[in-house]
Amino acid sequence: MKRKINQKSNPINTFICPNCGNIIYINNQTFLDVTNWPRCRDKLMDLSLFNKRCTHCGEEVYIEYPIEYMDEKRGFVVLMAPGFDEDFLSVVNSAKPEAFTLGNYHTYRVVPSVEELVEKILIFESNRDDVVIEVYKVFLRERLKEEWPDMNPELILYYNKDGDEYFVIWDNVMTPGSEKLTVAFDEEHYNEIIKDFGNSLKLTDNKKYWVIDEKFILKRVLK
Ligand SMILES: [Zn+2]
Repeated sequence: MKRKINQKSNPINTFICPNCGNIIYINNQTFLDVTNWPRCRDKLMDLSLFNKRCTHCGEEVYIEYPIEYMDEKRGFVVLMAPGFDEDFLSVVNSAKPEAFTLGNYHTYRVVPSVEELVEKILIFESNRDDVVIEVYKVFLRERLKEEWPDMNPELILYYNKDGDEYFVIWDNVMTPGSEKLTVAFDEEHYNEIIKDFGNSLKLTDNKKYWVIDEKFILKRVLK
């Protein structure tokens, strides 16, 4: 049986086994560099990266911890930090000189969950712009509310499965087994957003970690 443990803030080296109560020391892979470790992508995508086994009783535990995903070929870095706040952001952005000379990177993002990390990876691997995708999601949310007034589209995520692009909408994320709806990705609509919003979609500083989510879009693009 798998049990989920959520870790906030710093990477952890220990956890208490929920089955036997022993303290377990684990080796977290904090930096996932796909250039030097190609298999880390698959381990992240199927979430097996977060499965740890208790060395005392054998219990398998699922532990999410902060990681930094780096794809030098495509030039993006995504930092996943559960429950991060503004202070955290200013700390990572003030570490500029070292962090930004690590390699050939031009896109830096921070996300609060594994689901959103997976989404960013799929967006950038599909050569999509995540600012455009987030604008798309704001419009999609409005459209869903008009068409299904009873629906509460809590979380909308972009997916690409074997070249098939679509959005997955969760009505109520916290309810296990809650309804999921998928909506096909519309290339024309994507291009229209680029045409209509032009320069307001461009970020002012590429050498900086950005949080590009629906909140950012409402504040910076659709203001
Ligand atoms: Zn144990």
